Amino acid sequence: CGIVGYVGPQSALDVVTAGLKRLEYRGYDSAGVAVQADGGLATAKRAGKLVNLEKELGDRPLPAGTTAIGHTRWATHGGPTDANAHPHMDNAGRVAVVHNGIIENFAALREELTERGHELASETDTEVVAHLLAEEYSACADLAEAMRLVCRRLEGAFTLVAVHADEPEVVVGARRNSPLVVGVGSGESFLASDVAAFIAHTREAIELGQDQVVELRRDAVTVTDFDGAPADVREYHVDWDA
Ligand code: GLU
Repeated sequence: CGIVGYVGPQSALDVVTAGLKRLEYRGYDSAGVAVQADGGLATAKRAGKLVNLEKELGDRPLPAGTTAIGHTRWATHGGPTDANAHPHMDNAGRVAVVHNGIIENFAALREELTERGHELASETDTEVVAHLLAEEYSACADLAEAMRLVCRRLEGAFTLVAVHADEPEVVVGARRNSPLVVGVGSGESFLASDVAAFIAHTREAIELGQDQVVELRRDAVTVTDFDGAPADVREYHVDWDA
């Protein structure tokens, strides 16, 4: 339902959880975050309101980091439980992904992954994406390329945002039939399903087009189509108050 990603000098978890709060008005049933830290990924997720996630983060703080993603979920596949909350990870815990929308062909992908030995831990359509990204990443070692390859296999409507433990300070996003906007800061970058999540930090935005993938770094935003061809992007100024 709500998606936020951040890379930059601030505490990424603080930016992401504040961004999720700005998206609360949309309604949701669970929330979660993942942060890159100490060469790995750490996640926290809870069914219920953001206050449940904040309590969890208070009781068991995650390590500080400069790159994080967050999600508020409106369940479509699998009930609103802690296990079904996003982010979802691969079995090695090296990739974390959040998703808005529905992956229509998830059942076939899930079966294929299970046959290859993956163990899926949730009932969501989303989790297959984490496992597929891990497989593609182990072959190409490039998260944006892995995302393009995975997106070409997905049917349905999706905004996806992912981080990989082996790609520090990189957040990758993709979209089809579901919105995703980049916030361009100075030395920091944002991704969100709605500009409201980041206008406290920057009003320079780039709206992703249909079937595009974005690679976000502190000082660089690279957009391509699902085949890897560079895409034209139009930066615009958000001048309304949210
Ligand atoms: N289909 C996904 C799920 O049920 C994402 C739902 C959403 O857009 O929040 O977990």
